Parts: sequence; structure tokens; C-alpha cells
Amino acid sequence: MNWKVEQLPIYELSTGDTFSIKTYTLSNGVGPHVHIQASVHGAELQGNAIILRLMEQLKAEDLQGSITFIPLANPLATNNKHGTYTFGRTNPHTGDNWNRNYTDIIEKTDFDIKEFCSKNLDKDWQQIKSAFKIELENLFKDHISQLQSSHQLSENNYLNLILQKTAAKADVILDLHTGPIATEYLYCAHYEKEIAKYLNFPYVLFMPDEFAGAMDEAAFSPWIKLKESLAELGKEIELDVYSLTCELGSEEVFSMTSQSDQLEGIINFLKFNKVLSGEIQTYPYKSCELSDYKTYQAPHGGLVDYKLSPYDTFKKGDTLCSTYKLNKLDPTNPIASTKFDLIAQEDGLIINRCPSSAVQKGMELYQVMTNISSSE
Ligand SMILES: [Zn+2]
Repeated sequence: MNWKVEQLPIYELSTGDTFSIKTYTLSNGVGPHVHIQASVHGAELQGNAIILRLMEQLKAEDLQGSITFIPLANPLATNNKHGTYTFGRTNPHTGDNWNRNYTDIIEKTDFDIKEFCSKNLDKDWQQIKSAFKIELENLFKDHISQLQSSHQLSENNYLNLILQKTAAKADVILDLHTGPIATEYLYCAHYEKEIAKYLNFPYVLFMPDEFAGAMDEAAFSPWIKLKESLAELGKEIELDVYSLTCELGSEEVFSMTSQSDQLEGIINFLKFNKVLSGEIQTYPYKSCELSDYKTYQAPHGGLVDYKLSPYDTFKKGDTLCSTYKLNKLDPTNPIASTKFDLIAQEDGLIINRCPSSAVQKGMELYQVMTNISSSE
């Protein structure tokens, strides 16, 4: 088995120099294709540690199929430093979130999926899958060159389309991210509900099977449309193309020893997909619907004393944090005159917390799960 390494130029800077990404592909025989990328948000580094450890692990595994890794998938974002901080979530030129500008390729190109289904209706699912992957790859190729020739290709668009084109032939797509100060959690579409238990994330957010701009949705939505179109023609299939976003703790952190449970889960998930061989396990998790995953925005600007951290649970009536507004300071009563408590309106569990204590009104303080279910 040999690694194939490809370098793809992504940005051309004002100096004329280029930033590239590298893809590392290992193949062996016939089997599913896996696409794993990390650091589309430039400060979210931990996925690279998982990729290194996974590549190391592959030395001892019997791979069946192929796997492509893209570490440091967004060099412009990772290299965008402000002091010691990495400004990696949005494009500094446009303000666009790097993970909200993917393309719904079927809709964008007016691909006639009904015609594709009618033409391929007599084939078995594996044959339809192979034919559809080729169509997808060609749609991305044509769409990119059409945007290029009409001078309509923006920075975000280009990176996102190249990543989508690379992932078009994949059966399993894992987009590795982190939160700000965060737990380990998984974004999982409703159609994937049954497979969350193979991945070993303590928290799972179940989201609609719909496109809203992120990589996970962009990768699964053509397949959802294919499944629906086939069903309309009377052919029911069990969709076995999976696309998930894995959140691996906190941003700005790179550790070769952390998130071992999630690494084990990803290896287990590759076994479930028959890319690796071995016994498959299941893991317990807590979950909620995306509509019950809430962002608490700061009701005041000020200096925040956070009372809770990721993994903490809270009850209705608990104090989540206290904000001190120093422009209200009465020197005869300094603490009481400046302190404003944020009180929980419901029970929940902290998934993410803002890393800064200097917050402006309306900034994200916490992201929390509510209406939580347990898998066991
Ligand atoms: Zn992210």
C-alpha cells in the first residue's frame, strides 16, 4: 500500500505567492472511500492530532478501500494570527464563516436528478452509487471552471468547492472541528441517527437532513435528494453515505494524547463501514435536537465571571455567570452596583463557553443542550 500525496493550490496572495493544501490518500482494493479533513476553521487544531494518530494506526491495520486525509485544510485561516490568537473562524476579508459557504451542488447546477434516477433505475444500489459519484465530481469540476471563466470565484467559494470536489467520491465524510472552550460532540443528521452510537462522542446534536451551508450538509444533501428521487420512482434504498461534523474539544489546542475516546470511536466507525476489519462496539451518548441546542447571548456588556464550564449541568434558576458593568460602579457599594447575574430559564448542559471574559452585549456566552435524552 502506497500513500498518494497531492498538493492543491488554494490561495494566491497579494505577493503572488500561493497557499496550498495537501491530500494524503491510502488505497487498497475495492471498498468504501473515506474523506477526513481538519481545520477549516483555522484555530481548530485538534483534528490534525487525530489525523496524525489515525495515519499512524493505519500502519497496523488492514485497509479495505481508500481514505483521504486533508490536515490543515485552510492555511489562510490558520496563519491569520492576531497576537497569540488565531483569527480562524471567518474570512477576514469578507466576514464569511468558512463553514457556511459550501454549495448545494444539485440545486446550483440544476442537475436533473430525476432523469439520472430514471436512467439508472434498473441498476443495483452499488452501481447507482458509483455512477452518482462520477456525476457529482463532474458537476463540481464544471461548476468551478464556469465560475472561474466568468470571474465569479470568491476565496471562500474556491476552498469550499475544492474540498467538496475532493469529498464527492466519499462514502464517509468526517469534518473535524472544535468549539471555543468545549466538550467533544457530534453533529449527526436525522437519517444518520442509528450510527451515532459507533462514534464515541459523549454528546450528539441531531440536525435536519437539510442543507444550511456547512460541509456535512453539503456532502450528504445530494444523497438525500437521490434517495428521495429513487423513492418517488418506487425504489427504496438504505442510504449508507455518511457525513458528520466531529467537534474535538477546544480551539487553539493541539494535543497528541487528548480525545483518545473519539479516536477509538472513529476507528470503530471505519470498522462499521468495513474500511477496517475487527469487532464493532457501541458507545452511550446524550443527545438533543438541534432546535434544543441553544446559544445564550450576553444580555449585558461587561466583564464576565463564568460560573460553569463545559460538561457541567445546570438547573432552572441556577446562576450561569455574573457580568460586572464597571461603568455602573458606585465606589460606596462596588460589587452590588456593578454585578448582573445570568439566571438559567431551563435545565441544561454546557457544551461550549466563550473563551473571553470581556464581552459585548449580544455575544455568545454559552451553547447548551436542553431537553436531553440518553441513548441507554
Ligand atoms: Zn469549526
